[in-house]
Amino acid sequence: MSQAQAAKLEQYEITDAVSSFLASPRKMLVGDGWVDAKSGRTLDVLDPATNRLITSVPAADSADVDDAVRAAEQAFVSPDWGGLSPAERESLLLKVADVIETRADDFSQIITLECGKPLAESDEEIADALSTWRYCAAWATRIEGSSVNPINPIIPEKSAFGYTRKEPIGVVGAIIPWNFPLINAVDRVAPALTAGCTVVLKPAEQTPLTALLLGEAALEAGLPAGVLNVLTGFGPEAGSPLAAHPGIGKVAFTGSTSVGKLIGKAAMENITDVNLELGGKSPMIVLEDGVDDDMLPWLAAGLFYNSGQVCTAGSRLYAHKKVFDKVVAGVADIAGSLKLGHGLEAETEMGPLVSPEQQQRVLGYIDSGVEAGAETVTGGKQWGTEGCFVEPTIFTNVHDRMKVVKEEIFGPVMVAIPFADEAEVLEKANNTSYGLTASIWSNDLSKVNRLIPRLKAGLVWVNAHNLLDLALPFGGVKQSGIGRENGLDGVEEYLETKTVIMYS
Ligand code: ADP
Ligand code: MG
Repeated sequence: MSQAQAAKLEQYEITDAVSSFLASPRKMLVGDGWVDAKSGRTLDVLDPATNRLITSVPAADSADVDDAVRAAEQAFVSPDWGGLSPAERESLLLKVADVIETRADDFSQIITLECGKPLAESDEEIADALSTWRYCAAWATRIEGSSVNPINPIIPEKSAFGYTRKEPIGVVGAIIPWNFPLINAVDRVAPALTAGCTVVLKPAEQTPLTALLLGEAALEAGLPAGVLNVLTGFGPEAGSPLAAHPGIGKVAFTGSTSVGKLIGKAAMENITDVNLELGGKSPMIVLEDGVDDDMLPWLAAGLFYNSGQVCTAGSRLYAHKKVFDKVVAGVADIAGSLKLGHGLEAETEMGPLVSPEQQQRVLGYIDSGVEAGAETVTGGKQWGTEGCFVEPTIFTNVHDRMKVVKEEIFGPVMVAIPFADEAEVLEKANNTSYGLTASIWSNDLSKVNRLIPRLKAGLVWVNAHNLLDLALPFGGVKQSGIGRENGLDGVEEYLETKTVIMYS
């Protein structure tokens, strides 16, 4: 950590563990050791609220990927991991959760420092990660196949019997983004380990520190060497060879649709299984009966939570024309009064975007909206004099061909669009290449239930948005992805069915 950054951070109560974690460049976790990249290259990690350097981490490439996959392959068949009973695996995984919980303050500060979000949101992420981890661990002892009597036994004098075993799929290559540095990791690592797999985790280059802390927690809890490897580095140099590695049984990717396509192609070269959780342009649909005032903050959070950097973000607000003005004014009031600032400040309600690139991208979208004739109800500019802040922004007077309506912005920019009837809103809501989530806001259940099956989305909320639950499957249709996270479906992603047909 630079002197300047140390001075800046002194005004906050940084834990001793975090101070010493940041005191020197970090190493990455391969097998049982903390290592530099074989090339010696590093990458800088910045605090997006100030653009100051926090520390640096190794920049892995394919040589490091080979080592990590080898370590994971060895751990997969080792007596210490592959040889554990389900109950032993469960209890080991529960110990990891306990260590994460003991170090919750460290995790929270690291997430806020590298990702920018307010501490309260980092705390929510940790709570979510802990319950996900423990929920998954409990499935370890509940994994079941089925028994089926063969319909056409060929050797009539013998008795025939068939059953299925659920076996771990092997080494999982997990490549994750920066918007939820802990929960994105846990959503991949916890179900994979529960299934008995081993993991090579490649966090985003913007937020590698949380993943390294997770690696520390895993080792401290006694997870055997090689079960969880953490490779830091850039996407093309570290992520790409991981996705293309023949030693991988599954690639679990969360990120943009464009990179998801590259990963899918690389994986298909080896017929490697994939789970892709990709982008979205989710509609929030307010029907004619409108929303009560007490629901407005939830509607606003549907987009502005985590500065809009959420794959499920409700970036298109469709409100019935009778309630449109009132709903938009209500949401704009809340958005306009959000307190922006450093995530470590107690009063901060919305942090910066994750990086200068992301800030410039989002400001570029805002400019494109203004140029195309959209009307700015609130926001529309960079905020403050330093860091990657963008004001919460709402556009009206938009049409379907505008980039701000069609493309995923991944920032605090909402478009609000009136509609006259169900047919119109369905056509508009489904008019996107994405299909991650949608929400309907109404107490008119007959209308709600008519819309649910016709919305092209992997998850539909009613009177809520962005509220995932660890027991309920989550994933997209269309170009929002393949496969599911959470729930038993999420664990089964990392299991392969082996069929046994037996004559005796
Ligand atoms: P964003 O554009 O929001 O950063 P990405 O989809 O680019 O989202 O990044 C998500 C993850 O994918 C990150 O860990 C990133 O390093 C990784 N990544 C980026 N490009 C590639 C690639 N070509 N192959 C594999 N992984 C990649
Ligand atoms: Mg990228």
